[in-house]
Amino acid sequence: MELLPDSAPRQPDTLDSLFDDIRQKIIPGVTHWQSPNYFAYYPSNSSTAGFLGEMLSAAFNIVGFSWITSPAATELEVIVLDWFAKMLELPSQFLSTALGGGVIQGTASEAVLVALLAARDRALKKHGKQSLEKLVVYASDQTHSALQKACQIAGIFSENVRVVIADCNKKYAVTPEAVSEALSIDLSSGLIPFFICATVGTTSSSAVDPLPELGQIAKSYDMWFHIDAAYAGSACICPEYRHHLNGVEEADSFNMNAHKWFLTNFDCSLLWVKDRSFLIQSFSTNPEFLKNKASQANSVVDFKDWQIPLGRRFRSLKLWMVLRLYGVDNLQSYIRKHIHLAERFEQLLISDSRFEVVTPRTFSLVCFRLLPPTSDQDNGRKLNYDLMDGVNSSGKIFISHTVLSGKFILRFAVGAPLTEERHVDAAWKLLQEEATMVLGNV
Ligand code: PLP
Repeated sequence: MELLPDSAPRQPDTLDSLFDDIRQKIIPGVTHWQSPNYFAYYPSNSSTAGFLGEMLSAAFNIVGFSWITSPAATELEVIVLDWFAKMLELPSQFLSTALGGGVIQGTASEAVLVALLAARDRALKKHGKQSLEKLVVYASDQTHSALQKACQIAGIFSENVRVVIADCNKKYAVTPEAVSEALSIDLSSGLIPFFICATVGTTSSSAVDPLPELGQIAKSYDMWFHIDAAYAGSACICPEYRHHLNGVEEADSFNMNAHKWFLTNFDCSLLWVKDRSFLIQSFSTNPEFLKNKASQANSVVDFKDWQIPLGRRFRSLKLWMVLRLYGVDNLQSYIRKHIHLAERFEQLLISDSRFEVVTPRTFSLVCFRLLPPTSDQDNGRKLNYDLMDGVNSSGKIFISHTVLSGKFILRFAVGAPLTEERHVDAAWKLLQEEATMVLGNV
């Protein structure tokens, strides 16, 4: 904080002096998410194609809330989201040519909030406004905290957010039996189940919830079914991973982040709905100052009615450029390469008996830990924390952690655009050396 003055300059500075500050004061404090040695959280990709799209978007600087405020921005977004839906083989109801359609939100958190608000309003319309206190949301303890935040904002009573414990024997996916059980108890108490959130690629361990079964439950009770595939959705453009989306036919909304593992600079979160009228009913406003012939004639899409803010950026441009300049074949190879590298890391771990792979890998995330000595008081928590802290403090790699079944786990997520085998091997060597060190200190 002390590196910079505490108020803005009265007179303009020079570009040279500004860039000196960027080199000396800003870059040392930047976490390099694009580094090939970045393995923390989930990736957040950029690419030259995405960067160019972002630059053009900044140059046009349109605020495309209604079709008329920049027709090309709205129409390109509709086209690109339809392209993407076809790449993922989403059911045709999610296409703009049917009753559904896709829209770019800022983040997966916004996407689940938008879905939840639409679902809440649909339920209140059916059951009456006074039933808000009875509405129940179902998700697993592995669901991203974005859902909890969405519930807080949507006014869902905190005691009606049902957090079902995922099954450690099912790679930490939730079971339909556990959801049904919670649901039966709620129904017998007079509550109204109205929303299920399933995840394809949970944040802690990339678990995939059983979509077909959860979808059937949602259908039986007329609940909104939302799928959060923020990270793993990208993998489902490959035929060999598409089966993870089986069951999406029953979803009301589906979300994935192109800004995670799809070479598209942050932010770019793709949300599709099966019936866009629910979004429009919840988010539409029509003030005099925004009225125009095209909107009044109902002949165009006004994305302001599919999201929370009014203003919106021209984000489809960067996604369109990524799709066009790479092509689907290259994008599939890109995903496969990362998954192959994660497989390699997993094999390296298996070859060293000091480590354990905690839950089998599904995509490009490996969850592992250093096995503690049997006498260890806290089941390896400090040991693994020290290992993570040691490698991260070296500045050579960056990994993150989670807790599963009370165990402190390390997460190694492959997904930076420039990561190659040599980076994974070097990371492994560093982890082994640090492991020797921390085991020596026990
Ligand atoms: N859902 C999942 C499965 C995630 O892994 C994440 C973030 O990593 C999110 C939601 C939240 O993403 P966002 O930052 O786009 O809101």
